[in-house]
Amino acid sequence: MTMQSVNPATGETVRTYNTWSEGQLRNALEDCSEARIAWQSTTMEERCGFMRKAAIVLRQQKETLAALVTQEMGKLINEARAEVDKCASVCEFYADKGPAFLTDEILESDAGRSLVAYQPLGVVLAVMPWNFPLWQVFRFAAPSLVAGNVGLLKHASNVPGCALAIEDVFKQAGFPENVFRTLMIPASMVASVIEDNHVHAVTLTGSEHAGISVASTAGKALKKSVLELGGSDAFIVLEDADLEYTITQAVASRYLNAGQSCIAAKRFIVVDEVADQFVALFKDAVADLKPGDPMNEETRFAPMARHDLRDELHEQVIGSISQGAVAVIGCMPEDHPGAYYQASILDHVKPGIRAYDEELFGPVAIVIRAKNESDAVSIANSSRFGLGGSVWTEDSSRGEHVARQLECGCAFVNGMVKSDPRLPFGGIKASGYGRELSSHGIREFVNAKTIWIR
Ligand code: NAP
Repeated sequence: MTMQSVNPATGETVRTYNTWSEGQLRNALEDCSEARIAWQSTTMEERCGFMRKAAIVLRQQKETLAALVTQEMGKLINEARAEVDKCASVCEFYADKGPAFLTDEILESDAGRSLVAYQPLGVVLAVMPWNFPLWQVFRFAAPSLVAGNVGLLKHASNVPGCALAIEDVFKQAGFPENVFRTLMIPASMVASVIEDNHVHAVTLTGSEHAGISVASTAGKALKKSVLELGGSDAFIVLEDADLEYTITQAVASRYLNAGQSCIAAKRFIVVDEVADQFVALFKDAVADLKPGDPMNEETRFAPMARHDLRDELHEQVIGSISQGAVAVIGCMPEDHPGAYYQASILDHVKPGIRAYDEELFGPVAIVIRAKNESDAVSIANSSRFGLGGSVWTEDSSRGEHVARQLECGCAFVNGMVKSDPRLPFGGIKASGYGRELSSHGIREFVNAKTIWIR
């Protein structure tokens, strides 16, 4: 079997990679299991030193890595450069803060001395998506490796070049052999990796379907899992919002990465009083998003990552229009050999329409009109998903009151939802469980061991 790197901007196959045989996979798992013993006995200081070097390698190779990302999944070259920088910053963050996050916690008890020691779990498998092909991996790998775990990467099949480049970054940073390995395997071989005795835990960032499959296998094998799944984040616009600013953020949040972000604003829930004005301004701003070559720094709007994903999105749009949603702008694939979809807005989306319930993973905003603030909150919470959400209002205490009512893992007031190494990130409901980043992220894959001494 093979994996192919296809340039989404042109539809051309750039490179073909061989996938691994069962034997190659088993050998790699054994090698990683052996590497774990020595890696766990390194000091935290040594591990942080390697992680600092990984940040240096990333910054030195920014141009090459960014070009690879753009070529494999189509994002704008400037967005790809920013992604490389963010990876370097998460490596530095955990190199700086990891020791404090995992320091022994002394607790009072009937012992002479009792404490919690945070120790690595062992070998952790990461099943990752293509949308931020470097960032999704580094936000897992930086805390996990600093904590003393060994990392295995099963990356999405359309970004094999990025998958191998990441392994290479860790090699160049001087990490010992097999402390981080990229497994060149298809999704069908993931269950056998989770079940393997050399593997202790799994994290998946991806769709609900993949999440259910990975969590079931991990559950049966009694292994820890973390799931970062889909989202359909609410972007609530109240009548006192600064509309001009709100629109700039609405465009950035929905159309960045051609709309393929789990925490993109997907449902624009706007109170009736300002809904017509919001839609008119939003349409004008979206009309400026002209597609082009993502390698060109002037281009503002990228293709989607794959043709099949573009076609699935169009089916959701067509289905929603046939059920009563109104196309305000776009809503068609571009007439182009690349996987381009027009920057689109669907208005008057209501319960019973596909776009109301499903995640639209591409450049299509949906507008849902709400009677007032409390109606907006109940619409926001009617979603099966619970990843992020935002509220836009001149009154920040009113905003905080709304943010606290949202059923999601991260709620922002007058700011677009974004990930930040300093803040925990993750969802509830069908968006998954567990947290990445901050002190919460590094504690997901450690054993909080109680030590009791008379
Ligand atoms: P996907 O199809 O679920 O793929 C993600 C990863 O899971 C890939 O490596 C894929 O491998 C693998 N996979 C797929 N089916 C699997 C199965 N049954 N068992 C084991 N592994 C399996 O998701 P995607 O289309 O790449 O990504 C889009 C989804 O990810 C969206 O729903 C998005 O919201 C979500 N996402 C969530 C977050 C978050 O932090 N919460 C971040 C980014 C994206 P193959 O490529 O080989 O199929």
